[in-house]
Amino acid sequence: MTKTAAKARTAASRRPQANPRLFHAARARAIKQEICAVGRKLWLRHYVDGNGGNISCRIGPNEVLCTPTMLSKYDLTPAGLCLVDLDGNQLAGAGRRTSEILLHLEIYKAAPEVKAVVHCHPPHATAHSIARSVPDYLALPEFEVFIGHVPIAPYATPGTSEFARTVVPFVKHHNTALLANHGIVTWADTATHAEWYAEVLETYCWTMMLARQLGLPLTYFNALDVEGLMEIKHRYGLPDHRLAPPAERTCTCGPAIAPNAPAALPAPGQLSGPEFALLVQSVAEAVLEKLRGR
Ligand SMILES: [Zn+2]
Repeated sequence: MTKTAAKARTAASRRPQANPRLFHAARARAIKQEICAVGRKLWLRHYVDGNGGNISCRIGPNEVLCTPTMLSKYDLTPAGLCLVDLDGNQLAGAGRRTSEILLHLEIYKAAPEVKAVVHCHPPHATAHSIARSVPDYLALPEFEVFIGHVPIAPYATPGTSEFARTVVPFVKHHNTALLANHGIVTWADTATHAEWYAEVLETYCWTMMLARQLGLPLTYFNALDVEGLMEIKHRYGLPDHRLAPPAERTCTCGPAIAPNAPAALPAPGQLSGPEFALLVQSVAEAVLEKLRGR
C-alpha cells in the first residue's frame, strides 16, 4: 500500500459512521433546493453543457449531497440528488453520484470549513485553463476582494483520484482554481456563494479579454488601492494566498510577500491591527515590484 493510501485509510477509519437518513432530514431539504437552483444558474449562464459540471454540499461530518451523473444541471430535482460519504460511497439518492465527486471530497477533507463546491466549464475561464495562463489581476475591485489570484491545478484524467488530488495544495488559501485543460472549481460556505465565485471569475476573464482588445495600455491598482481592497477582504474573512504564512504558501503563481515580512504569521482572521498593517504594506511592496516589472 502506498503512503498516501495508508494515510487515507487511517483518516477514513477515524471518521464517524455516515448516516444515510440525513438525505431526508429537514435541513437537507433547503440545501437540495439550493443545489438545484445553482444548477439552473450554471446552465442558463452557459457555464455547463451536456451533462457537464457538478455541485455538492457537505451536510454532516461524513455526509455530502451531490449531483448525479449524466444529467443536465438545468434538469436537477431534489429527489434525483445523491448522498455520499467522504470516501465517495453512495448512501442514498435515486441517481448515480457524479464521478467528479472525488475532487469535491478532497476539498472537504483539506478544509473542514468548506461546505459547498461547484465545478463547471465557463468558456472564458476555461480558455485560460487551456492556455495555462492565470487571469491578470489587480484590475477590478470585486475580483480582487472575492477571489484574487487564481492558481492552476495540473491536468489529470477527470474522475480519477489523481485528478481529485491536484487541487489540494490550493484549498486552504484560495477559493477558486483553474483546472488545466478542463474548467474551474470553486468552494465556499454555501453553493450559492461558490456559484458567485464562478460568475466573478468568468466575468473577469471575459472583461480582461475585451479590455486587451481595445489596444490601449491597461491601468492596474496602485499600492494604496490594494491596501483598501485587502482591508475589505480581511473584514469578509476571505482567503488569499498573499496573506498566508510563508510556510503554507504552496502557490507560487502570485506576488510573494516581501522578504522582510515576519517569518511566521498567524492566520488572517487572527492578525492584530499592526500585524495586518505590516502584511498590507508587504503585499503592497510586492505588488509594486511586480508592476514595475511589467
Ligand atoms: Zn468537468
